Amino acid sequence: MIVVGAGLAGLAAAAEAAEAGRTVLLLDQEGEQSLGGQAWWSFGGLFFVDSPEQRRLRIRDSVELAWQDWTGTAGFDRPEDELPRQWARAYVEFAATEKRSWLRQMGHRVVPVVGWAERGGYLADGPGNSVPRFHVTWGTGPGVVEPFARRVRAAAGAGKLKFCFRHRVDALTVTNGVVDGVAGTILEPTDTPRGEPSSRQGAGSFELRAQAVIVASGGIGGNHDLVRKAWPERLGSPPAHMLSGVPEHVDGRMIGITEQAGGQVINRDRMWHYVEGITNWDPIWPLHGIRILPGPSSLWLDATGRRLPSPLYPGFDTLGTLEYLRQTGYDHSWFILTRKIIAREFALSGSEQNPDLTGRDRRAMLTSRLGGRVPGPVQAFVDHGEDFVTARSLRGLVDGMNKITGGEPHLDAAAVKAEVAARDADATNAFGKDGQLTAIRGARKYLGDRLTRVARPHRLLDPAAGPLIAVRLHVLTRKTLGGLHTDLSARVLGSGGEPVPGLYAAGEAAGFGGGGMHGYRSLEGTFLGGCLFSGRIAGRAAAAATAG
Ligand SMILES: Cc1cc2nc3c(=O)[nH]c(=O)nc-3n(C[C@H](O)[C@H](O)[C@H](O)COP(=O)(O)OP(=O)(O)OC[C@H]3O[C@@H](n4cnc5c(N)ncnc54)[C@H](O)[C@@H]3O)c2cc1C
Repeated sequence: MIVVGAGLAGLAAAAEAAEAGRTVLLLDQEGEQSLGGQAWWSFGGLFFVDSPEQRRLRIRDSVELAWQDWTGTAGFDRPEDELPRQWARAYVEFAATEKRSWLRQMGHRVVPVVGWAERGGYLADGPGNSVPRFHVTWGTGPGVVEPFARRVRAAAGAGKLKFCFRHRVDALTVTNGVVDGVAGTILEPTDTPRGEPSSRQGAGSFELRAQAVIVASGGIGGNHDLVRKAWPERLGSPPAHMLSGVPEHVDGRMIGITEQAGGQVINRDRMWHYVEGITNWDPIWPLHGIRILPGPSSLWLDATGRRLPSPLYPGFDTLGTLEYLRQTGYDHSWFILTRKIIAREFALSGSEQNPDLTGRDRRAMLTSRLGGRVPGPVQAFVDHGEDFVTARSLRGLVDGMNKITGGEPHLDAAAVKAEVAARDADATNAFGKDGQLTAIRGARKYLGDRLTRVARPHRLLDPAAGPLIAVRLHVLTRKTLGGLHTDLSARVLGSGGEPVPGLYAAGEAAGFGGGGMHGYRSLEGTFLGGCLFSGRIAGRAAAAATAG
């Protein structure tokens, strides 16, 4: 059996197939140093439902509530959503049952405080998580990859699996309508560090045969041409300037190659890009951007200085905010906050941005998350990041904001002051009517938020909370929500809805299952789990189909 892609989905599929007795070739265009793909860089946030961690924090969750949240967020509305919807249901049930114990038995652990991502802010059955469900892996992305890397290495040791690094697949081979192998280019060896662009210079070619091929090649987020091509009208025009939240190898090329062999792509126009991207001052890949995982307190202004409407508060509705911002005519927006807010509320997504969690250093974690000081990696952005402005006065802050954009568009200090003053008046009103302040007060009733994520409400202009900070935010490409149409056994379907014999797909290339199990939007932390779930199904199904 051949697995294309040694990211998380490919590792899960390969481990399952090898342990079921198949002989597996695991191919990747990158070198061994990149094993684990995007997942290694990830924050390791996982969606669990009704976990012991939730229960310990008095969070009452259930499959029914999670399913209501999922469907309210996904907005499935197309005939081709039938299988993605079934994948979603199976995944939510998996997240409520076997997912945690399966991972735990492989040594995986999570941080005890459960995060509350995508808070929604609409009606009870609309988009968003009704309860906190974002469980951060102890060890972040590398901690998610570790058990699966161990399993495939053990399979290699037992002679059941062979790694083929620097093998770039350029075509699937098809004989009498059956996918029976891959052909491609052997790329020259590389010692380029993980995540950096590696050479595409060929050093030979290969052709390999197999009874089944599993495509686990990731999405399109590193290829801005493909992102722009697939950009849907409902999100306005694609930004002229975007950052990349993924390495360059997330090039989407293999999805086109699979289409050429008869596989169908559905929901190509559904993507999950962030609106809180900042330019990495210490980049690893081209246009490298980092996503801020924001707490709810920053004041969010569009490029012209107007406050975003309710409920587009930080961390509430990623895609709704993207849709709104694309109508403003500008590519960037702004957070205005205080030192007190940044210290408590800014988390940066990415394993390398969280050395305390990634290094499993309890003492460093307690100091950086509870100590009240700005965490080191965040402070590095304040000090070196081209999108950050710090000032003691609002006037000085606006001057700095105009300086870094070259005044395009020019921000009027009086207009910004009016937005800040209106918000500040509500912050000190024991009653109040500002939806964002109400949401902040509500969030602080949750122990996890009060301890680690949400600053006590205060005036932005309170000198004791300062200095003031402004952050210019960019659109950051990340996840591909649509993909190869697959049935519940991860078999790739053709345009007529029939399986393409011999062909399977998993992970982001398959829209995390079915060709888009998230529909239009995600509840967050659902991507890594989607790779594990679909990879496991693909590996088991392909192994069963080739038995004997
Ligand atoms: C910084 C960051 C933070 C994230 N945080 C989270 C989080 O907290 N929670 C969450 O759920 N998700 C998160 N994600 C998303 C998640 O990590 C990805 O969606 C997931 O890891 C994708 O895995 P994959 O195996 O499908 O694809 P990939 O990881 O992209 O792996 C695909 C592999 O296929 C190889 N490949 C592609 N084409 C070819 C070809 N033609 N021939 C040979 N090889 C090929 C690539 O080189 C690559 O190694 C994050 C992602 C990033 C980058």
